[in-house]
Amino acid sequence: MTSEPRLALSTPVADEVRKTTCYMCACRCGINVHIKDGKIRYIEGNRDHPVNRGVLCAKGSAGIMQHYAPARLRAPLKRTGPRGSGEFQEISWEEALTIATGWLDGVRHDDPKKLAFFTGRDQSQSLTGFWAQQFGTPNYAAHGGFCSVNMAAGGIMTIGGAFWEFGAPDWDRTKLFVMFGVAEDHDSNPIKMGIAKVKKNGARFVSVNPVRTGYSAVADNWIGIRPGTDGLLILAVVHELLKARKIDVDYLVRYSNAPWLVIDAPGTAEHGLFARDADGKPLIFETVTERAVPVGTKGARPGLSGRHELPDGRFAVPSFQLLAEKYLDPKYAPEAASVETGVAVDVIRGLAAEIARVAFDEAITIEQPWTDVHGERHHHFVGRPVSFHAMRGLSAHSNGFQTARALHMLQVLIGAVDCPGAFRFEPPYPKPLEAHPTPHGKAEHFGSAKPLSGPHLGFPRGPEDLLIDAEGKPTRIDKAFSWDAPISAHGLMHMVIANAHAGDPYPIDVLFLYMANMAWNSSMNTAGVMKMLEDKDPETGEYRIPKIIYSDAYASEMVAYADLVMPDTTYLERHDCISLLDRPISEPDAVQDAIRWPVVEPDRDVRGFQSVLIDLGARLKLPAFVDSRGTAIYKDYADYIVRHERRPGIGPLAGFRGLNGDRAGRGAANPDQLKRYIENGSFFSTHIPLEAQFFKHANQAYQDFAVRMGFFDTPQPVTFQLYSEPLQKFRLSAEGLRAPFAPETHRQRILDSFTPLPDWYRPFEEALVDRETYPYHAITQRPAAMYHSWGSMNAWLRQIHTCNPLYVPGPICDEHGLVDGDWVWVISHHGRIKVEIARMEAVNSSTIWTWNAIGKRRGAWGLDGDAPEAKKGFLMNHLIHELLPPKGDGMRWSNSDPVTGQAAWYDLRVRIEKAERAQISEPHFPAVAEPGRPHAHVEELRYGQEWAK
Ligand code: SF4
Repeated sequence: MTSEPRLALSTPVADEVRKTTCYMCACRCGINVHIKDGKIRYIEGNRDHPVNRGVLCAKGSAGIMQHYAPARLRAPLKRTGPRGSGEFQEISWEEALTIATGWLDGVRHDDPKKLAFFTGRDQSQSLTGFWAQQFGTPNYAAHGGFCSVNMAAGGIMTIGGAFWEFGAPDWDRTKLFVMFGVAEDHDSNPIKMGIAKVKKNGARFVSVNPVRTGYSAVADNWIGIRPGTDGLLILAVVHELLKARKIDVDYLVRYSNAPWLVIDAPGTAEHGLFARDADGKPLIFETVTERAVPVGTKGARPGLSGRHELPDGRFAVPSFQLLAEKYLDPKYAPEAASVETGVAVDVIRGLAAEIARVAFDEAITIEQPWTDVHGERHHHFVGRPVSFHAMRGLSAHSNGFQTARALHMLQVLIGAVDCPGAFRFEPPYPKPLEAHPTPHGKAEHFGSAKPLSGPHLGFPRGPEDLLIDAEGKPTRIDKAFSWDAPISAHGLMHMVIANAHAGDPYPIDVLFLYMANMAWNSSMNTAGVMKMLEDKDPETGEYRIPKIIYSDAYASEMVAYADLVMPDTTYLERHDCISLLDRPISEPDAVQDAIRWPVVEPDRDVRGFQSVLIDLGARLKLPAFVDSRGTAIYKDYADYIVRHERRPGIGPLAGFRGLNGDRAGRGAANPDQLKRYIENGSFFSTHIPLEAQFFKHANQAYQDFAVRMGFFDTPQPVTFQLYSEPLQKFRLSAEGLRAPFAPETHRQRILDSFTPLPDWYRPFEEALVDRETYPYHAITQRPAAMYHSWGSMNAWLRQIHTCNPLYVPGPICDEHGLVDGDWVWVISHHGRIKVEIARMEAVNSSTIWTWNAIGKRRGAWGLDGDAPEAKKGFLMNHLIHELLPPKGDGMRWSNSDPVTGQAAWYDLRVRIEKAERAQISEPHFPAVAEPGRPHAHVEELRYGQEWAK
């Protein structure tokens, strides 16, 4: 945290430079916005900002065109034509809020679960979730279920944190950086800056990705893996490390559950669970006294092998023994893994050897004494400088949860979690599973006009925490936390519309969405979803989803399907809070949060969605938004950010708390807090003392720091869970040994996918379709210049990707006689698209791919009817169904990971057939009418010399 005046990177070209936070992607870099005559002239990176240090990407600087885009909505809209037509009438905010309040109030008093409230990649989930909790509906989640919940859930359940917002590589010290399935727009500036450091330091960068673009293009080694097989590659590396005994035994014994004893009593309700003492403490086998003692017993030397008799006569084995037995099996050997992954045996062996060499032969130390949570003093921090990063490419498969777990297990086995040179946690993580709530949404958790009794999202510890009724039916509209997806920690947004349309498990009345383009690129089976949104009950003539409220800043494809549109501001016109209660921007060495504020005032009749939500909360008299007389507590979102307290002294922002603004983390609300943030460049940062910076999971100084900062009220150390007891509880339930029992229909699926030690299985779609009929994988990759569809209307970014070819590997082109510019039909079990191709060599030989979310529907986003995005541009989504192909028994599962419900976007299998050359891709949909009048025209803005006069 610094207090000296901050300078713009360049000479100001305008009257004023205002510092805020970028929102052109999810990285949240600091920006300097140059303003002249009340208009935005120029955006540059804030060199003092801890996230980007002045670095700005193309998207960030193009924020100016986002702000002035003609596609901006200009006023609240009420639908006048049929759904999908885009015919609306502009109305006042008072009318819009009155309509919304009427719809929502009726539902709240009748049956709150008839509201489904889901948000996209918004950065205010601690508010939106809290609002939904106050409303009392069990049906709330954000976009995580169709994004990367496998990474979050796999990480939290294994090490108490995960990649990206939960941690980062130690860029300055790492000597080997291995990245799995990361698109080039992900964590964009921080990763680019990190890779630059890796290269400058002479460290090695290995990228595992079917497509060699973006980050992979600058990797020292590119491993063009077959999609959906990363888990097997990782387990083959584990096999090699175990065989070579290249594991950090001391680290495992100290920080993981490797020594915990697992009950070996097949056919009983305790089989595979941890043996525990009367207080519930796990037992270990003490090798000196040769008896089972509770974990943490002073002076105990835990064993990692053997089969031991417990005091009650049962037998148990250390979980590490099970681990070693499992992964030493030849089915995980490089020879076997090579067949599935397409990665050569010597490459797998080479990767394992390099990981082992760097971890153990190039270990580093930091001479800083520290004390662990057991009171043992250490002279220094030992670092295993191998770091990993992974994201959606690894995650968006039906086996992604176990793959994420496998990668974290690998990190723990070599002692490379939160040590110098490795992956390091970012506060407020690590956080053990026990510190997360269980999900709320059972019938007893809500009722007419009552708040939900706890948070919607969390982690079930076992089947007893599922959100199901007495008959085992889901209580949530997306069927999250049901037998279909028991640990769906972020919900299943991709199933909401299909389930609501089918009235399964029940019909809803109001669908309330925020910045989620569900009628286009955010849904599987896009054409089907559009039909569902338009579909009417033939008997009543009413829409099957009766009322849709939507908030967005731009005329996206989804707008046309709303009944009531509440226009949001751009990110430069409103307050926002990048909160530690939400998705943090901390660094491994520092606690950080940030704000946005209106650096320019809206010139249209629009309002920040979060302020609208707070207004609605007061109109609905939700308890946390009104006082005892029913008067609104908060004026708007800015007021809420400053005055709301989630726990005493803990609010949305950690910085400048206390009446004088001199408290961090805990402290009374400070009326000048936002002013202090703005003076500080719109962020807050405080360093973690060096003694507390590493081994946070077991470092007493860090745990004390976390309590002081208010992350926890008591220390919450983490023991890494290589072997997962919650998963085994689900298996026992599937075996009929532990109540509640899994339904027959779900048993085999749970037995196959809930293995307590990470495993790999073939992705479901690939396993269900005929691999000869659909021989290729089809995936998407997000370009560096576009974050999903966020830049769709951006005049500068559109020039980089005006349309997206289908990239086809050279050997497939040769087989089909294809050259650049040819057109093909791409056919899946669900649908077909006709698109133009481009030949590419730097791609896995069985994988075709394209850029994500470039294709647009004609009429949307304020684009010209002839826009290339709406003619040649296309979506892969049309080929993907939200349900898997039917099985032999006629059942169709959701196209998701069976543990977390994560949408399995990248499981898609296709074939291609040469087609006639064309000018327009198929399917092609009728244009939607532009909602409201176009507002600002880009040509009204002048840039360059003329503007500066
Ligand atoms: S990386 Fe993302 S947040 Fe940072 S400048 Fe680029 S678009 Fe903005």
